[in-house]
Amino acid sequence: MKLYLKNLKQKIAVAEEYSFNAWLRDEILSDFKGKFSAPAEVYLEVENTGEMFLAKGKLKAKVILECSRCLKESEFPVDIDLYFNIVEKGLQGEFTEENVVFFTGDEVDITTYLEEEVMLSLPLQPLCKEDCRGLCPFCGADLNTGACRCQEQNIDPRWEKLKQLIR
Ligand SMILES: [Zn+2]
Ligand SMILES: [Zn+2]
Repeated sequence: MKLYLKNLKQKIAVAEEYSFNAWLRDEILSDFKGKFSAPAEVYLEVENTGEMFLAKGKLKAKVILECSRCLKESEFPVDIDLYFNIVEKGLQGEFTEENVVFFTGDEVDITTYLEEEVMLSLPLQPLCKEDCRGLCPFCGADLNTGACRCQEQNIDPRWEKLKQLIR
């Protein structure tokens, strides 16, 4: 995803709008065994401050991730605010690397930056639903669909003791 800055470079204190749809790479979701189910919709307002370009906007997308408890695939919305600087290489001087995308020439490629922002926004332990009951550690049955046989047999040993005492 590239922004063409040629026109904006001539106009200081002016902002231009950019909006586009593009698929991000599924590889960035490999830690989650995930994939994108919708292209990223990006809207940006980029202002030429004279020293650099200030970009503000939004990114929306949809990803399919594996539930960390039951391993079922679920769709998660991605909805993030973007706020970063675009700086021409060689002019960076006082700019730190954080939230800065460098470029040369008339266009800047923001793909890697957007992918990083999407990755940072994802839940560390995705859940298909808040109270997902996960899989039985013994037989692997999905406990969301009901109890498995192991649970019936696997009575808490403390209760067993209590039963014996009552007898
Ligand atoms: Zn789940
Ligand atoms: Zn079981």
